[in-house]
Amino acid sequence: MTGLVDTRTPNPKNFFPGDDHDWELVIGLEVHAQVTSNAKLFSGASTEFGNEQNANVSLVDAAMPGMLPVINEACVRQAVKTGLGLNAQINNRSVFDRKNYFYPDLPQGYQISQLYHPIVGEGVVTIQVGPDKQGQFESVEIGIERLHLEQDAGKSMHDQHPTMSFVDLNRSGVALMEIVSKPDIRSIDEAKAYITKLRSILRYLGTCDGNMDQGSMRADVNVSVRKPGGEFGTRCEIKNVNSIRFMGQAIDYEARRQIDILEEGGTIDQETRLFDPNKGETRSMRSKEEAHDYRYFPDPDLLPLEFDDAYVDQIRAELPELPDAKRIRFMDEGLSEYDASILVSDKSIADFFEKVVEGRDAKVSANWVINDLLGALNKAGKSLEESPVSATQLGGIINLIKDGTISGKIAKDLFEIVWNEGGDPAKIVDERGMAQVTDTGAIEAAVDEIIAANPDKVQQAIEKPNMIGWFVGQVMKATGGKANPQAVNELLRKKING
Ligand code: ADP
Ligand code: MG
Repeated sequence: MTGLVDTRTPNPKNFFPGDDHDWELVIGLEVHAQVTSNAKLFSGASTEFGNEQNANVSLVDAAMPGMLPVINEACVRQAVKTGLGLNAQINNRSVFDRKNYFYPDLPQGYQISQLYHPIVGEGVVTIQVGPDKQGQFESVEIGIERLHLEQDAGKSMHDQHPTMSFVDLNRSGVALMEIVSKPDIRSIDEAKAYITKLRSILRYLGTCDGNMDQGSMRADVNVSVRKPGGEFGTRCEIKNVNSIRFMGQAIDYEARRQIDILEEGGTIDQETRLFDPNKGETRSMRSKEEAHDYRYFPDPDLLPLEFDDAYVDQIRAELPELPDAKRIRFMDEGLSEYDASILVSDKSIADFFEKVVEGRDAKVSANWVINDLLGALNKAGKSLEESPVSATQLGGIINLIKDGTISGKIAKDLFEIVWNEGGDPAKIVDERGMAQVTDTGAIEAAVDEIIAANPDKVQQAIEKPNMIGWFVGQVMKATGGKANPQAVNELLRKKING
Protein backbone atom coordinates (compact mmCIF):
# COMPACT_ATOMS: atom_id res chain seq x y z
CA MET A 1 0.00 0.00 0.00
CA THR A 2 2.71 2.47 1.01
CA GLY A 3 6.30 2.03 -0.16
CA LEU A 4 8.16 -0.46 2.01
CA VAL A 5 10.94 0.94 4.15
CA ASP A 6 13.50 -1.22 5.92
CA THR A 7 14.09 0.12 9.41
CA ARG A 8 16.19 -2.77 10.69
CA THR A 9 19.88 -3.62 10.57
CA PRO A 10 20.31 -7.34 9.85
CA ASN A 11 21.12 -9.28 13.02
CA PRO A 12 22.87 -12.66 12.50
CA LYS A 13 21.06 -13.89 15.62
CA ASN A 14 17.87 -13.89 13.54
CA PHE A 15 19.21 -15.57 10.42
CA PHE A 16 17.53 -18.65 9.07
CA PRO A 17 19.84 -21.33 7.66
CA GLY A 18 19.54 -22.43 4.03
CA ASP A 19 21.67 -24.92 2.09
CA ASP A 20 23.64 -22.26 0.20
CA HIS A 21 23.68 -19.36 2.65
CA ASP A 22 21.73 -17.76 5.49
CA TRP A 23 18.39 -16.09 4.89
CA GLU A 24 16.54 -13.33 6.69
CA LEU A 25 12.82 -13.54 7.39
CA VAL A 26 10.61 -10.53 6.85
CA ILE A 27 7.27 -10.71 8.61
CA GLY A 28 4.32 -8.32 8.85
CA LEU A 29 1.16 -9.09 10.81
CA GLU A 30 -2.41 -8.03 10.23
CA VAL A 31 -4.14 -8.69 13.55
CA HIS A 32 -7.91 -8.75 13.78
CA ALA A 33 -8.93 -7.84 17.31
CA GLN A 34 -12.56 -7.98 18.33
CA VAL A 35 -13.54 -4.75 20.04
CA THR A 36 -14.80 -5.17 23.59
CA SER A 37 -18.27 -3.62 23.44
CA ASN A 38 -21.80 -4.66 24.34
CA ALA A 39 -23.24 -4.04 20.89
CA LYS A 40 -22.06 -4.50 17.30
CA LEU A 41 -20.36 -1.85 15.17
CA PHE A 42 -23.47 -0.70 13.29
CA SER A 43 -26.35 -2.34 15.17
CA GLY A 44 -27.64 -2.76 18.69
CA ALA A 45 -27.38 -6.58 18.65
CA SER A 46 -25.44 -8.21 21.49
CA THR A 47 -21.85 -9.38 21.05
CA GLU A 48 -21.99 -11.96 23.84
CA PHE A 49 -19.87 -15.03 23.14
CA GLY A 50 -21.34 -18.52 23.24
CA ASN A 51 -25.01 -17.66 22.70
CA GLU A 52 -27.26 -19.93 20.69
CA GLN A 53 -26.71 -19.70 16.93
CA ASN A 54 -28.32 -16.66 15.34
CA ALA A 55 -29.50 -15.32 18.72
CA ASN A 56 -27.43 -12.12 18.35
CA VAL A 57 -28.79 -10.98 15.01
CA SER A 58 -30.63 -7.74 14.31
CA LEU A 59 -32.29 -6.83 11.03
CA VAL A 60 -29.19 -4.79 10.17
CA ASP A 61 -26.87 -7.76 10.69
CA ALA A 62 -29.10 -9.96 8.55
CA ALA A 63 -29.05 -7.21 5.89
CA MET A 64 -32.81 -6.99 5.53
CA PRO A 65 -33.86 -4.54 2.80
CA GLY A 66 -33.87 -0.91 3.84
CA MET A 67 -31.92 -1.39 7.05
CA LEU A 68 -29.35 1.31 7.74
CA PRO A 69 -26.12 1.11 9.74
CA VAL A 70 -25.66 3.46 12.72
CA ILE A 71 -22.16 3.81 14.13
CA ASN A 72 -21.69 2.62 17.73
CA GLU A 73 -19.78 5.36 19.55
CA ALA A 74 -18.42 2.93 22.14
CA CYS A 75 -16.50 1.12 19.38
CA VAL A 76 -15.07 4.39 18.07
CA ARG A 77 -13.87 5.22 21.57
CA GLN A 78 -12.21 1.80 21.88
CA ALA A 79 -10.41 2.25 18.56
CA VAL A 80 -9.11 5.69 19.58
CA LYS A 81 -8.02 4.31 22.94
CA THR A 82 -6.16 1.49 21.22
CA GLY A 83 -4.52 3.92 18.82
CA LEU A 84 -3.26 5.96 21.77
CA GLY A 85 -1.97 2.78 23.43
CA LEU A 86 -0.03 2.03 20.24
CA ASN A 87 1.55 5.52 20.29
CA ALA A 88 -0.21 6.16 17.02
CA GLN A 89 -1.54 9.06 15.01
CA ILE A 90 -5.28 9.48 15.60
CA ASN A 91 -7.15 10.66 12.53
CA ASN A 92 -9.98 13.06 13.42
CA ARG A 93 -11.64 12.24 10.14
CA SER A 94 -11.97 8.72 8.74
CA VAL A 95 -14.21 7.13 6.13
CA PHE A 96 -16.04 3.81 5.92
CA ASP A 97 -15.77 1.93 2.63
CA ARG A 98 -17.63 -1.02 1.22
CA LYS A 99 -15.44 -3.99 0.42
CA ASN A 100 -17.51 -6.05 -1.99
CA TYR A 101 -17.47 -9.81 -2.10
CA PHE A 102 -19.99 -12.59 -1.92
CA TYR A 103 -19.93 -15.14 0.82
CA PRO A 104 -22.90 -16.83 2.51
CA ASP A 105 -21.78 -15.61 5.93
CA LEU A 106 -21.85 -11.99 4.70
CA PRO A 107 -25.51 -11.25 3.88
CA GLN A 108 -24.85 -7.62 2.90
CA GLY A 109 -22.68 -8.71 -0.01
CA TYR A 110 -19.99 -6.34 1.24
CA GLN A 111 -18.05 -5.73 4.42
CA ILE A 112 -17.99 -2.21 5.83
CA SER A 113 -14.32 -1.41 6.44
CA GLN A 114 -11.92 1.52 6.14
CA LEU A 115 -9.42 1.46 3.29
CA TYR A 116 -8.28 4.92 2.25
CA HIS A 117 -8.86 6.86 5.46
CA PRO A 118 -8.45 4.69 8.57
CA ILE A 119 -9.25 5.98 12.07
CA VAL A 120 -5.66 5.40 13.27
CA GLY A 121 -2.42 5.93 11.36
CA GLU A 122 1.22 5.13 12.08
CA GLY A 123 2.35 4.04 15.53
CA VAL A 124 4.88 1.86 17.28
CA VAL A 125 4.97 -1.17 19.58
CA THR A 126 8.16 -1.87 21.52
CA ILE A 127 8.86 -5.53 22.13
CA GLN A 128 11.34 -7.16 24.50
CA VAL A 129 12.92 -10.20 22.92
CA GLY A 130 14.63 -12.61 25.26
CA PRO A 131 15.95 -13.20 27.78
CA ASP A 132 19.19 -14.58 26.34
CA LYS A 133 21.56 -16.80 28.32
CA GLN A 134 22.85 -13.74 30.21
CA GLY A 135 19.28 -12.79 31.18
CA GLN A 136 19.39 -9.78 28.85
CA PHE A 137 16.47 -8.53 26.79
CA GLU A 138 16.71 -6.80 23.45
CA SER A 139 14.27 -3.94 22.83
CA VAL A 140 12.95 -3.80 19.28
CA GLU A 141 10.54 -1.26 17.82
CA ILE A 142 7.91 -2.64 15.47
CA GLY A 143 6.14 -0.02 13.37
CA ILE A 144 2.36 0.07 13.10
CA GLU A 145 1.07 0.99 9.66
CA ARG A 146 -2.55 1.63 10.58
CA LEU A 147 -5.56 0.52 12.60
CA HIS A 148 -8.99 0.54 11.04
CA LEU A 149 -12.47 -0.42 12.12
CA GLU A 150 -14.45 -3.03 10.21
CA GLN A 151 -17.25 -5.56 10.56
CA ASP A 152 -16.67 -9.19 11.26
CA ALA A 153 -18.46 -11.81 9.14
CA GLY A 154 -20.68 -14.66 10.33
CA LYS A 155 -19.70 -18.30 10.34
CA SER A 156 -20.54 -20.96 7.76
CA MET A 157 -20.85 -24.50 9.07
CA HIS A 158 -20.26 -27.28 6.59
CA ASP A 159 -20.08 -30.18 9.00
CA GLN A 160 -23.57 -30.23 10.52
CA HIS A 161 -25.58 -31.92 7.79
CA PRO A 162 -24.78 -34.37 4.95
CA THR A 163 -26.10 -32.21 2.13
CA MET A 164 -26.57 -28.73 3.54
CA SER A 165 -24.44 -25.93 4.97
CA PHE A 166 -25.63 -23.73 7.81
CA VAL A 167 -24.80 -20.18 8.73
CA ASP A 168 -24.52 -18.53 12.15
CA LEU A 169 -24.69 -14.73 11.98
CA ASN A 170 -23.93 -14.04 15.65
CA ARG A 171 -20.55 -12.60 14.74
CA SER A 172 -21.81 -10.82 11.64
CA GLY A 173 -21.33 -7.09 12.21
CA VAL A 174 -19.29 -7.36 15.40
CA ALA A 175 -16.62 -4.61 15.49
CA LEU A 176 -13.08 -5.57 14.65
CA MET A 177 -9.94 -3.50 14.78
CA GLU A 178 -7.52 -4.54 12.08
CA ILE A 179 -4.06 -3.63 13.30
CA VAL A 180 -1.49 -3.76 10.49
CA SER A 181 2.20 -3.86 11.34
CA LYS A 182 4.98 -2.71 9.09
CA PRO A 183 7.19 -5.49 7.73
CA ASP A 184 9.60 -4.89 10.64
CA ILE A 185 9.56 -8.36 12.22
CA ARG A 186 12.64 -10.51 11.52
CA SER A 187 12.22 -13.80 13.37
CA ILE A 188 9.70 -16.21 14.83
CA ASP A 189 10.65 -15.06 18.34
CA GLU A 190 10.02 -11.44 17.40
CA ALA A 191 6.66 -12.35 15.83
CA LYS A 192 5.64 -14.15 19.02
CA ALA A 193 6.88 -11.28 21.21
CA TYR A 194 4.99 -8.81 19.04
CA ILE A 195 1.63 -10.55 19.19
CA THR A 196 2.06 -11.25 22.91
CA LYS A 197 2.84 -7.58 23.56
CA LEU A 198 0.00 -6.39 21.38
CA ARG A 199 -2.42 -8.68 23.21
CA SER A 200 -1.12 -7.44 26.54
CA ILE A 201 -1.61 -3.79 25.54
CA LEU A 202 -5.17 -4.50 24.35
CA ARG A 203 -5.96 -6.26 27.62
CA TYR A 204 -4.53 -3.44 29.73
CA LEU A 205 -6.62 -1.00 27.71
CA GLY A 206 -9.71 -3.20 27.97
CA THR A 207 -10.35 -2.77 24.25
CA CYS A 208 -10.13 -6.48 23.27
CA ASP A 209 -10.15 -9.53 25.50
CA GLY A 210 -7.36 -11.10 23.42
CA ASN A 211 -8.81 -14.61 23.74
CA MET A 212 -7.37 -16.25 20.65
CA ASP A 213 -9.05 -19.58 21.38
CA GLN A 214 -12.45 -17.86 21.16
CA GLY A 215 -11.47 -16.14 17.95
CA SER A 216 -11.45 -12.64 19.44
CA MET A 217 -7.91 -12.17 18.21
CA ARG A 218 -6.48 -13.75 15.06
CA ALA A 219 -3.66 -12.90 12.74
CA ASP A 220 -2.94 -12.90 9.02
CA VAL A 221 0.76 -13.59 8.86
CA ASN A 222 2.76 -12.20 5.91
CA VAL A 223 6.07 -13.96 5.37
CA SER A 224 8.86 -13.44 2.87
CA VAL A 225 12.55 -14.33 2.85
CA ARG A 226 15.57 -12.51 1.43
CA LYS A 227 19.32 -12.45 1.53
CA PRO A 228 20.26 -10.67 4.78
CA GLY A 229 19.81 -6.95 4.32
CA GLY A 230 18.77 -7.40 0.65
CA GLU A 231 15.67 -6.41 -1.30
CA PHE A 232 12.30 -7.40 0.13
CA GLY A 233 11.13 -10.72 -1.31
CA THR A 234 7.66 -11.72 -2.49
CA ARG A 235 5.39 -12.43 0.46
CA CYS A 236 2.79 -15.06 1.13
CA GLU A 237 -0.03 -14.34 3.52
CA ILE A 238 -1.16 -17.07 5.92
CA LYS A 239 -4.76 -16.39 6.87
CA ASN A 240 -6.51 -16.52 10.22
CA VAL A 241 -3.89 -17.99 12.52
CA ASN A 242 -5.52 -18.34 15.91
CA SER A 243 -2.77 -19.30 18.33
CA ILE A 244 0.72 -18.02 19.03
CA ARG A 245 2.15 -21.52 18.87
CA PHE A 246 0.56 -22.20 15.48
CA MET A 247 1.86 -18.87 14.24
CA GLY A 248 5.41 -19.96 15.10
CA GLN A 249 4.92 -23.29 13.31
CA ALA A 250 3.32 -21.64 10.29
CA ILE A 251 6.18 -19.13 9.87
CA ASP A 252 8.77 -21.86 10.25
CA TYR A 253 7.13 -24.07 7.64
CA GLU A 254 6.50 -21.19 5.26
CA ALA A 255 10.06 -19.83 5.50
CA ARG A 256 11.52 -23.27 4.76
CA ARG A 257 9.16 -23.75 1.84
CA GLN A 258 10.12 -20.42 0.30
CA ILE A 259 13.85 -20.95 0.89
CA ASP A 260 13.67 -24.39 -0.77
CA ILE A 261 11.99 -22.90 -3.85
CA LEU A 262 14.46 -20.03 -4.12
CA GLU A 263 17.52 -22.22 -3.60
CA GLU A 264 16.33 -24.43 -6.45
CA GLY A 265 16.19 -21.37 -8.66
CA GLY A 266 12.41 -20.93 -8.50
CA THR A 267 10.31 -17.86 -7.71
CA ILE A 268 7.65 -17.25 -5.07
CA ASP A 269 4.09 -16.68 -6.19
CA GLN A 270 2.33 -14.07 -4.09
CA GLU A 271 -0.59 -15.99 -2.66
CA THR A 272 -2.93 -16.47 0.25
CA ARG A 273 -2.26 -19.67 2.20
CA LEU A 274 -3.84 -21.58 5.06
CA PHE A 275 -2.04 -23.26 7.95
CA ASP A 276 -3.13 -26.79 8.84
CA PRO A 277 -2.19 -27.36 12.51
CA ASN A 278 -2.68 -31.13 12.18
CA LYS A 279 -0.14 -31.44 9.39
CA GLY A 280 2.02 -28.49 10.46
CA GLU A 281 1.91 -27.23 6.86
CA THR A 282 0.66 -24.23 4.94
CA ARG A 283 -1.17 -24.81 1.67
CA SER A 284 -2.31 -22.53 -1.09
CA MET A 285 -5.84 -21.15 -0.77
CA ARG A 286 -5.94 -18.65 -3.62
CA SER A 287 -3.67 -16.34 -5.55
CA LYS A 288 -3.33 -12.93 -3.92
CA GLU A 289 -6.29 -10.61 -4.39
CA GLU A 290 -5.74 -6.89 -4.82
CA ALA A 291 -7.66 -3.98 -3.34
CA HIS A 292 -9.21 -3.19 -6.73
CA ASP A 293 -10.69 -6.71 -6.89
CA TYR A 294 -13.03 -5.68 -4.10
CA ARG A 295 -14.35 -2.57 -5.87
CA TYR A 296 -13.97 -0.51 -2.69
CA PHE A 297 -16.03 2.67 -2.53
CA PRO A 298 -17.16 4.99 0.29
CA ASP A 299 -20.29 3.61 1.95
CA PRO A 300 -23.09 5.99 0.97
CA ASP A 301 -25.08 4.99 4.08
CA LEU A 302 -22.47 6.43 6.45
CA LEU A 303 -21.10 9.93 6.86
CA PRO A 304 -17.37 10.29 7.34
CA LEU A 305 -16.51 9.74 10.98
CA GLU A 306 -15.35 12.99 12.57
CA PHE A 307 -14.42 14.06 16.09
CA ASP A 308 -12.38 16.87 17.61
CA ASP A 309 -9.16 16.93 19.63
CA ALA A 310 -11.09 17.39 22.87
CA TYR A 311 -12.67 13.98 22.34
CA VAL A 312 -9.25 12.39 21.88
CA ASP A 313 -7.76 14.28 24.85
CA GLN A 314 -10.54 13.08 27.09
CA ILE A 315 -9.84 9.46 26.12
CA ARG A 316 -6.11 10.03 26.56
CA ALA A 317 -6.73 11.28 30.10
CA GLU A 318 -8.46 7.99 30.96
CA LEU A 319 -5.66 5.72 29.72
CA PRO A 320 -4.41 3.24 32.32
CA GLU A 321 -0.72 2.67 33.01
CA LEU A 322 0.49 0.42 30.17
CA PRO A 323 2.96 -2.49 30.38
CA ASP A 324 6.06 -0.52 29.27
CA ALA A 325 5.54 2.21 31.85
CA LYS A 326 4.74 -0.36 34.53
CA ARG A 327 7.87 -2.37 33.75
CA ILE A 328 10.05 0.70 34.11
CA ARG A 329 8.34 1.65 37.37
CA PHE A 330 8.83 -1.87 38.77
CA MET A 331 12.52 -1.69 37.84
CA ASP A 332 12.78 1.69 39.57
CA GLU A 333 11.30 0.01 42.63
CA GLY A 334 14.16 -2.48 42.68
CA LEU A 335 13.14 -5.40 40.46
CA SER A 336 15.33 -6.95 37.78
CA GLU A 337 14.26 -6.52 34.16
CA TYR A 338 13.51 -10.23 34.06
CA ASP A 339 11.17 -10.13 37.06
CA ALA A 340 9.54 -6.89 35.96
CA SER A 341 8.95 -8.28 32.46
CA ILE A 342 7.23 -11.38 33.79
CA LEU A 343 5.06 -9.42 36.19
CA VAL A 344 3.82 -6.89 33.62
CA SER A 345 3.36 -9.41 30.79
CA ASP A 346 -0.19 -10.07 31.89
CA LYS A 347 -2.43 -7.45 33.44
CA SER A 348 -3.91 -9.88 35.93
CA ILE A 349 -0.41 -10.87 37.15
CA ALA A 350 0.58 -7.21 37.48
CA ASP A 351 -2.61 -6.43 39.44
CA PHE A 352 -2.02 -9.41 41.72
CA PHE A 353 1.59 -8.41 42.34
CA GLU A 354 0.61 -4.83 43.13
CA LYS A 355 -1.71 -6.10 45.85
CA VAL A 356 0.98 -8.35 47.31
CA VAL A 357 3.75 -5.73 47.26
CA GLU A 358 1.62 -3.05 48.94
CA GLY A 359 3.63 -2.23 52.08
CA ARG A 360 6.11 -5.08 51.50
CA ASP A 361 9.56 -5.63 50.00
CA ALA A 362 9.47 -5.60 46.19
CA LYS A 363 12.09 -8.30 45.57
CA VAL A 364 10.66 -10.69 48.20
CA SER A 365 7.13 -10.18 46.88
CA ALA A 366 8.27 -10.72 43.29
CA ASN A 367 10.03 -13.96 44.24
CA TRP A 368 6.92 -15.31 45.93
CA VAL A 369 4.63 -14.35 43.08
CA ILE A 370 6.91 -15.58 40.30
CA ASN A 371 8.64 -18.63 41.73
CA ASP A 372 6.13 -19.94 44.21
CA LEU A 373 2.70 -18.87 43.05
CA LEU A 374 3.15 -18.80 39.25
CA GLY A 375 5.32 -21.92 39.55
CA ALA A 376 2.61 -23.80 41.43
CA LEU A 377 -0.13 -22.56 39.09
CA ASN A 378 1.88 -23.65 36.10
CA LYS A 379 2.41 -27.09 37.59
CA ALA A 380 -1.28 -27.43 38.41
CA GLY A 381 -2.29 -26.16 34.97
CA LYS A 382 -4.33 -23.36 36.57
CA SER A 383 -4.66 -19.72 35.57
CA LEU A 384 -4.12 -16.90 38.04
CA GLU A 385 -7.88 -16.35 38.17
CA GLU A 386 -8.21 -19.90 39.51
CA SER A 387 -5.44 -19.46 42.09
CA PRO A 388 -6.29 -21.11 45.41
CA VAL A 389 -4.00 -18.58 47.15
CA SER A 390 -5.18 -14.96 47.08
CA ALA A 391 -2.97 -11.86 47.10
CA THR A 392 -4.06 -11.19 50.68
CA GLN A 393 -3.09 -14.70 51.78
CA LEU A 394 0.29 -14.52 50.03
CA GLY A 395 0.89 -11.11 51.60
CA GLY A 396 0.06 -12.66 54.97
CA ILE A 397 2.69 -15.37 54.50
CA ILE A 398 5.31 -12.78 53.59
CA ASN A 399 4.41 -10.74 56.69
CA LEU A 400 5.02 -13.77 58.90
CA ILE A 401 8.53 -14.20 57.46
CA LYS A 402 9.24 -10.51 57.76
CA ASP A 403 8.36 -10.33 61.46
CA GLY A 404 10.36 -13.49 62.21
CA THR A 405 7.35 -15.63 63.15
CA ILE A 406 8.30 -18.31 60.63
CA SER A 407 11.44 -19.17 58.69
CA GLY A 408 11.57 -19.11 54.89
CA LYS A 409 11.53 -22.89 54.93
CA ILE A 410 8.39 -23.16 57.05
CA ALA A 411 6.84 -20.50 54.82
CA LYS A 412 7.00 -22.96 51.92
CA ASP A 413 5.06 -25.52 53.99
CA LEU A 414 2.60 -22.85 55.01
CA PHE A 415 2.11 -21.89 51.36
CA GLU A 416 1.28 -25.48 50.57
CA ILE A 417 -1.27 -25.67 53.38
CA VAL A 418 -2.93 -22.44 52.27
CA TRP A 419 -2.90 -23.72 48.68
CA ASN A 420 -4.57 -27.01 49.64
CA GLU A 421 -6.83 -26.01 52.50
CA GLY A 422 -7.23 -22.23 52.37
CA GLY A 423 -7.44 -20.15 55.54
CA ASP A 424 -5.68 -17.28 57.23
CA PRO A 425 -1.90 -17.89 57.29
CA ALA A 426 -1.38 -16.33 60.74
CA LYS A 427 -4.13 -18.44 62.23
CA ILE A 428 -2.76 -21.62 60.65
CA VAL A 429 0.68 -20.92 62.13
CA ASP A 430 -0.92 -20.39 65.53
CA GLU A 431 -3.15 -23.43 65.48
CA ARG A 432 -0.52 -25.81 64.17
CA GLY A 433 2.36 -24.51 66.26
CA MET A 434 4.42 -23.64 63.22
CA ALA A 435 5.97 -20.53 64.73
CA GLN A 436 9.72 -20.35 64.86
CA VAL A 437 11.33 -21.36 68.15
CA THR A 438 13.10 -18.23 69.27
CA ASP A 439 13.26 -19.49 72.83
CA THR A 440 17.04 -20.01 73.04
CA GLY A 441 16.62 -22.41 75.96
CA ALA A 442 14.83 -24.95 73.79
CA ILE A 443 17.30 -24.49 70.94
CA GLU A 444 20.23 -24.77 73.31
CA ALA A 445 18.97 -28.09 74.63
CA ALA A 446 18.85 -29.49 71.10
CA VAL A 447 22.30 -28.10 70.30
CA ASP A 448 23.85 -29.60 73.44
CA GLU A 449 22.33 -32.98 72.75
CA ILE A 450 23.68 -33.16 69.21
CA ILE A 451 27.14 -31.94 70.20
CA ALA A 452 27.33 -34.54 72.98
CA ALA A 453 26.28 -37.36 70.62
CA ASN A 454 28.83 -36.50 67.90
CA PRO A 455 32.28 -35.79 69.40
CA ASP A 456 34.08 -36.86 66.17
CA LYS A 457 32.04 -34.44 64.08
CA VAL A 458 32.76 -31.66 66.59
CA GLN A 459 36.48 -32.27 66.09
CA GLN A 460 36.02 -32.07 62.32
CA ALA A 461 34.03 -28.86 62.63
CA ILE A 462 36.81 -27.23 64.63
CA GLU A 463 39.25 -28.02 61.81
CA LYS A 464 36.81 -27.35 58.99
CA PRO A 465 34.34 -24.52 59.84
CA ASN A 466 32.08 -25.46 56.90
CA MET A 467 31.08 -28.58 58.82
CA ILE A 468 28.87 -26.37 60.95
CA GLY A 469 26.25 -26.77 58.24
CA TRP A 470 25.81 -30.41 59.18
CA PHE A 471 25.06 -29.43 62.78
CA VAL A 472 22.58 -26.76 61.70
CA GLY A 473 20.77 -29.42 59.66
CA GLN A 474 20.63 -31.77 62.65
CA VAL A 475 19.27 -29.09 65.00
CA MET A 476 16.66 -28.05 62.47
CA LYS A 477 15.60 -31.66 62.14
CA ALA A 478 15.39 -32.09 65.91
CA THR A 479 13.23 -28.98 66.24
CA GLY A 480 10.95 -29.86 63.34
CA GLY A 481 12.40 -27.04 61.23
CA LYS A 482 11.06 -24.48 63.63
CA ALA A 483 14.29 -23.23 65.20
CA ASN A 484 15.35 -19.78 64.11
CA PRO A 485 18.30 -20.64 61.84
CA GLN A 486 20.23 -17.55 62.81
CA ALA A 487 19.98 -18.38 66.52
CA VAL A 488 21.04 -21.99 65.80
CA ASN A 489 24.09 -20.82 63.87
CA GLU A 490 25.22 -18.42 66.57
CA LEU A 491 24.80 -20.96 69.35
CA LEU A 492 26.67 -23.67 67.45
CA ARG A 493 29.61 -21.42 66.68
CA LYS A 494 29.83 -20.35 70.28
CA LYS A 495 29.70 -23.90 71.62
CA ILE A 496 31.97 -25.60 69.06
CA ASN A 497 34.60 -22.94 68.72
CA GLY A 498 34.40 -21.93 72.35
P1 ADP B 1 -3.05 -6.58 2.10
O1 ADP B 1 -4.24 -6.16 2.87
O2 ADP B 1 -3.21 -6.56 0.66
O3 ADP B 1 -2.50 -7.89 2.58
P2 ADP B 1 -1.57 -4.54 3.47
O4 ADP B 1 -0.61 -3.56 2.89
O5 ADP B 1 -2.77 -4.04 4.16
O6 ADP B 1 -1.91 -5.51 2.30
O7 ADP B 1 -0.82 -5.43 4.53
C1 ADP B 1 0.24 -6.15 4.15
C2 ADP B 1 0.96 -6.73 5.36
O8 ADP B 1 2.05 -7.42 4.82
C3 ADP B 1 1.53 -5.70 6.31
O9 ADP B 1 1.51 -6.20 7.61
C4 ADP B 1 2.95 -5.55 5.81
O10 ADP B 1 3.84 -5.21 6.85
C5 ADP B 1 3.27 -6.94 5.32
N1 ADP B 1 4.25 -6.97 4.24
C6 ADP B 1 4.34 -6.16 3.19
N2 ADP B 1 5.38 -6.51 2.40
C7 ADP B 1 5.95 -7.61 2.97
C8 ADP B 1 7.04 -8.46 2.62
N3 ADP B 1 7.76 -8.27 1.53
N4 ADP B 1 7.32 -9.48 3.44
C9 ADP B 1 6.59 -9.69 4.55
N5 ADP B 1 5.57 -8.94 4.93
C10 ADP B 1 5.23 -7.90 4.15
MG1 MG C 1 -3.69 -8.77 4.03
